[in-house]
This record gives sequence, C-alpha cells and structure tokens, in this order.
Amino acid sequence: MSNKFNYKKSLGQNFLYDENICKRIVDSANIDRDTLVIEIGPGGGAISKYIIDKCGYLVMYEIDERLISGLNNLLCGYNNYEIIVGDFLKEDIKEKIDGFKYKRVYVVANLPYYITTPIITKLIDDEVFPDKIVIMIQKEVASRLSATVGGRDYGSLTVFLNYYYDIKKLFDVSRNCFMPKPNVDSAVICMDLKNERFFIKDIKLFKRVVRDSFRYKRKNLRNNLKEYDLEKIENVLKGYGFDLGVRAEELSLDIFIDIVNSISDDNNSLL
Ligand code: SAM
Repeated sequence: MSNKFNYKKSLGQNFLYDENICKRIVDSANIDRDTLVIEIGPGGGAISKYIIDKCGYLVMYEIDERLISGLNNLLCGYNNYEIIVGDFLKEDIKEKIDGFKYKRVYVVANLPYYITTPIITKLIDDEVFPDKIVIMIQKEVASRLSATVGGRDYGSLTVFLNYYYDIKKLFDVSRNCFMPKPNVDSAVICMDLKNERFFIKDIKLFKRVVRDSFRYKRKNLRNNLKEYDLEKIENVLKGYGFDLGVRAEELSLDIFIDIVNSISDDNNSLL
C-alpha cells in the first residue's frame, strides 16, 4: 500500500505487510483449482495475490471504494476473480455462490476485527456453510473460538460454532506485522465443516438456550435458565452426573444438544 493511504480505523484497516505470514495463511488453507474462495476485506490484496494463484475463482467483498482500482491493477493478469464493492454483512452470499459450480467453498481472510462475530454468524445463519474458513482474527477471540470445555475462554459462541465446525488455532501473529500497527495481537484459526452433526430439533432454541446458559458467567444453570423447563433440564443433567448447580462452562456440546432436544418436544419450550 502507498504510504499516503489514509487508513480508516473505523473499517478495521490494519493491513498485513509481512509476506511470510500472507503466504502462510494461504498455504494453510490448502486451496486448489476446484475451490471457490471468498475473501472478506481484501484491502490492498496482501493475501488475495496468493489465493488467486491457487484457487478456481476468487470472490472478494470490499467496502472501501478507494481500494478497488489498486486491487484491479494488482490482479490485472487474472480473469478468475471479481470484487463486490459493499458491506459484506448486507450482501446475499448464498445467492452469489450458488451461481458457481466448484467442489468446495472456502473463506480465507484477514477479517475486519470490529465485525468478526457478525461475519462468522452470517456465514452460518445465511446457510453459506463454507467447507473451510481460514481467518485471521484478534488473538483473544481466537482463544475463545478454539476453547475447550471447562476452560476460561469457553463460551456460548464456542459451543454454537462447535456444532458446525471443528476449530483449531493455527498460529499467532504479532501486531508488528501490520500497517498501521493495531493495539491487539492476532491469530489465525482454521474451521473445518463437520461431515456429520448431531440432530437438533429446533436450532433457534439451541442458539437461545446456549446464549442464556452463559448469560451470567458466575451463575449456574438453575439461575440462567429459570425461564425454561428446569425439571426436564435436570433430568438430562443427571444422566451426565451433573445437577442444576452446574455452570455452563462445564457442559460440552452434546449435553447442550440433549438439553435442547428434551425441552423442544412440543415447540413450546418457554414456560
Ligand atoms: N486483507 C487485507 C490485508 O490482509 O492486508 C486487509 C485486511 S483489513 C484487517 C480489513 C479489510 O476489510 C479492509 O480492507 C476494510 O476496508 C475491509 N472491510 C471493513 N469492513 C468491511 C465490510 N463490512 N465489508 C467488506 N469489507 C470490509
């Protein structure tokens, strides 16, 4: 990027300039010509230029119009890409990718950190379900998403995303690798879509119960889920050797699923 570029903090514009890290991110995604890649926020094209050499087609979503001509110049030797100028969160991603016939759809990106969670949840809520998501995010968020049950970072988003994806942290990235230098460190995570998922009767209820279970971190399930059928919930917990005094952070994904399925029998889970 030119030194004169006026970076917008409000758009999470911290551009990666360490070429080794750029390559490492793209290499760890194992992209091939049968892969359609979605990149959110290509910026100056730091990782796009490596992705495009490997993928079948690259669809980029960039909100900042000032970056588009630079990106087109950088990628001028290629014809397997398009740039959609706009807010990724407002775009119809499903409709876009349904128009392509690639074996796999991946997301590879250095995300704008201010909308990390909305971006990931959009990919699920809009049923895009990329086969693989390799993203650079804030280090603390990476720890949360890849946390294991019982750990300090284990939370509702961990449980929810673990229903769909196997998530692992790949490597940390120092703040010194960015221009301008951000106030936080970063990490790259890889999320692989699970081939099989447990059956959940009511996915919206699952989301709600998981969120409510973690609502007050210090409170137990009896308090956090008092609006639900506690008798049914306790029955499930007993089967796993717990009672209503347990805290959400001690419960694995399969226990949450059992709880939700036990209270969603009659579509009327809230008392
Ligand atoms: N990929 C580049 C890199 O690694 O150097 C830039 C990454 S920078 C952290 C985030 C990028 O996302 C910026 O280019 C920013 O303009 C873009 N962006 C921010 N909000 C966006 C949104 N809602 N939709 C699409 N792009 C967005």
